[in-house]
Amino acid sequence: AKAAGRNGFSFFTPSLQVEAQRRQQVGNSLRHALRDNHFEAYYQPIIALDSGRAVKAEALLRWRHPEQGVLLPGDFIAVAEEIGMIGDIGNLVFQQTLELLEAWPGGQVSINISPRQFISGDCRHWLQEIAARQLPAGCLAVEITEGLLLDERPLVVNTLLGFHQAGVEVSIDDFGTGYSAMSYLKKFNIDYLKIDRSFIAGLARDNTDHAIAEAVIAMAHKLGMRVIAEGVETEAQRQLLLEAGCDYAQGYLFARPMPRQDFIDFIRSSQCRVAAGG
Ligand code: C2E
Ligand code: CA
Ligand code: CA
Ligand code: CA
Repeated sequence: AKAAGRNGFSFFTPSLQVEAQRRQQVGNSLRHALRDNHFEAYYQPIIALDSGRAVKAEALLRWRHPEQGVLLPGDFIAVAEEIGMIGDIGNLVFQQTLELLEAWPGGQVSINISPRQFISGDCRHWLQEIAARQLPAGCLAVEITEGLLLDERPLVVNTLLGFHQAGVEVSIDDFGTGYSAMSYLKKFNIDYLKIDRSFIAGLARDNTDHAIAEAVIAMAHKLGMRVIAEGVETEAQRQLLLEAGCDYAQGYLFARPMPRQDFIDFIRSSQCRVAAGG
């Protein structure tokens, strides 16, 4: 490292350059993907644990890459945020979700909003569109993270209030993984806590995870919130959550995220099963 120069700058230059180049490449292909309509919202059912019915869904972004196949948000969201494209991509998810809701009366879809996207204010004009379309209250929810609620800037507070007034419900995503003091729960109208997958994973074998899940459910109910368990993969987890009084669950045990038409088929066939008394 000494050979790199007095201040060590040249030592870091090559990897920084490679990283910058990679980001620029991803950025360019993101712009092309937006132009060519390669972004698509998938939908994962959220199940009411008492009835077993899919009553809600979460929109999850996918990039249908012509060469690399279906890419996950972890591969590209961070770059999209950095180059200021998250607003455009988020608007696509919003528009596609409105289309899905037309085919799913009585359903509710929640949309993820990253802190950067929220703070840039890109999602604020959704409120106008919701009002213009006279969407029924409760058909949309937004998923935000705990960290955002520690931000007391008027933009954050007012946008959250705007969502609430427009009948858009608010979920805290990945609950329990932030470093928050939970004081925000007093200040905002939160409808759902989503227990992070990391706690659900240990539910059946780790007493601590089980205790945390039970405590979160009890606290949420006392504060008038409902609870969604994320990443439910086993029947044992479903059973424990049901016993603990958890309201909703989402995970591979029930269904993976799927394209819009598959989701509509899924909802229709599961309603038929219920109607048939199954
Ligand atoms: P998240 O909001 O915590 O979403 C849940 C993630 O868990 C999704 O990953 C989902 O596919 C995955 N998952 C669902 N059930 C299971 C399960 O049973 N087991 C396991 N192992 N995983 C499960 P995905 O789709 O890769 O999304 C990753 C993250 O990307 C999301 O985490 C969310 O933070 C972000 N994201 C997704 N779509 C959007 C979007 O439209 N806008 C923004 N800003 N962020 C998004
Ligand atoms: Ca989420
Ligand atoms: Ca989550
Ligand atoms: Ca997560």
